[in-house]
Amino acid sequence: MARTNLWLFWGFWAVLGFLWLALNRGIFSPTSGFALRDPMMQFSGTLAMSAMSVAMMLSLRPRWPEVWLDGLDKMYRLHKWLGIGTLGLVIYHWLWSEGPKWAVGFGFLGRPSRGPRPEITDPVQRALLNFRGTAEGLGQWAYYALVALLLIALVKLIPYRWFRYSHRLMPFIYLVLVFHTVILLDYGMWLTPLGPILAGLMFAGSYAALASLFGRIGAGRRVVGEIAEMRHYPGVRSLEAVVKLGPGWPGHEAGQFAFATSNPIEGAHPYTIASAWNPADPMVTFIAKELGDHTTGLVDRLKVGQQITVEGPYGRFTFDDGRPQQIWVGAGIGITPFIARLKEMAALEPGSPRPEIDLFHTTREVDESALERLAADAYAANVRLHLLVDAKHGKLTGGRIREAVPNWSEASLWFCGPVGFGAALRSDFAAQGFPVEGRFHRELFELR
Ligand SMILES: Cc1cc2nc3c(=O)[nH]c(=O)nc-3n(C[C@H](O)[C@H](O)[C@H](O)COP(=O)(O)OP(=O)(O)OC[C@H]3O[C@@H](n4cnc5c(N)ncnc54)[C@H](O)[C@@H]3O)c2cc1C
Repeated sequence: MARTNLWLFWGFWAVLGFLWLALNRGIFSPTSGFALRDPMMQFSGTLAMSAMSVAMMLSLRPRWPEVWLDGLDKMYRLHKWLGIGTLGLVIYHWLWSEGPKWAVGFGFLGRPSRGPRPEITDPVQRALLNFRGTAEGLGQWAYYALVALLLIALVKLIPYRWFRYSHRLMPFIYLVLVFHTVILLDYGMWLTPLGPILAGLMFAGSYAALASLFGRIGAGRRVVGEIAEMRHYPGVRSLEAVVKLGPGWPGHEAGQFAFATSNPIEGAHPYTIASAWNPADPMVTFIAKELGDHTTGLVDRLKVGQQITVEGPYGRFTFDDGRPQQIWVGAGIGITPFIARLKEMAALEPGSPRPEIDLFHTTREVDESALERLAADAYAANVRLHLLVDAKHGKLTGGRIREAVPNWSEASLWFCGPVGFGAALRSDFAAQGFPVEGRFHRELFELR
């Protein structure tokens, strides 16, 4: 995670955790093991619902936080980490719910004597109490479903389509858990500063959940277009499609991406826009590599004239850091954002300010016509192209980049390609004292 996102992630838990502890100091002097059960469930439940609410809001794909959170791809990573935190917390919550009962059953703990319950005079609290049994029962089922859905989402061995279809149930589970929380949250907590915070989070999360259930995520950012041209690059198993856009597209910057839907049952897939924006000729180009179920065979399924829905643009991989020198590394299909920028630069007025650029393209597979087009784009943009075919030139390393670009320490580095390769280059440059936090930019080609 980028540093800001890391701070936000840990800051979120710290602020809410400390606030809860400050309001529930009795937890530090429990009278028995059983006396901890309720507060521990309240604590874990409050944090888990807060995290889920933020994750729900992020799933709305809001564009305004992209500047701070470094693009939608990083926001989805934050969403994923909030999901991991939620998974840990709900398991903890469940263990505190069931564990003490098991301990009583096995004779390790005595059943606590509750004494008479105080009479409840507050009408709202009394009304909430009527739903207690329902909320507990529903909460238990929602818990099992939530754990299953989170495991499907997090275990990458499980096919992506299982994750995608099952994840559509998440907003429903979330709404059940909102009901569970509203009824079962310690009533006194609503009247503390934590009450309005949790209520606000759950209100926003419920709005996001309903938007998701009614298919409204990104609805205002969808434009219908039509495939105007297609080109196949069999050597690299990729298909280029030029989509002529209908009215409504706000324009995009080179390096941004969009969600494209060619088949509503399949749903939207993210692709980098591999073309520069020209309002006089509103179109976007996508280059899709055959990487799985949907992308394999696209070349036979798509037709010129076919409608495509395009949603976006998203992302902050936009090359606008003002450095005098930039190093670009596009590995395999990770070349697409650089193609867009090459096209944009070729159209710049002569004499416009621009950095010196070295573009490294590494590839395992070869398609001569794709490479010729890339070389022509690099030439037109006045960018030095370093082409490395794995079998012929070996792997690209940080050392090879630094050798080819003597003033690398003044540059920024823009990387798009396999996650492991990006991580290795980042730590290699960091070990050389390169300020990776501010100057190593990465586009993540995965949202899971
Ligand atoms: C920001 C971004 C930009 C991308 N740009 C390009 C590009 O320019 N060219 C290109 O070829 N690929 C690009 N990808 C990857 C592309 O989205 C996936 O290769 C494609 O969706 C694979 O779908 P599949 O059903 O064929 O593969 P599957 O076998 O189902 O999945 C392969 C992998 O693709 C990803 N994936 C599948 N479906 C989706 C989906 N609906 N949403 C998000 N990820 C999904 C998953 O990580 C999965 O593990 C980009 C991805 C992201 C996140």
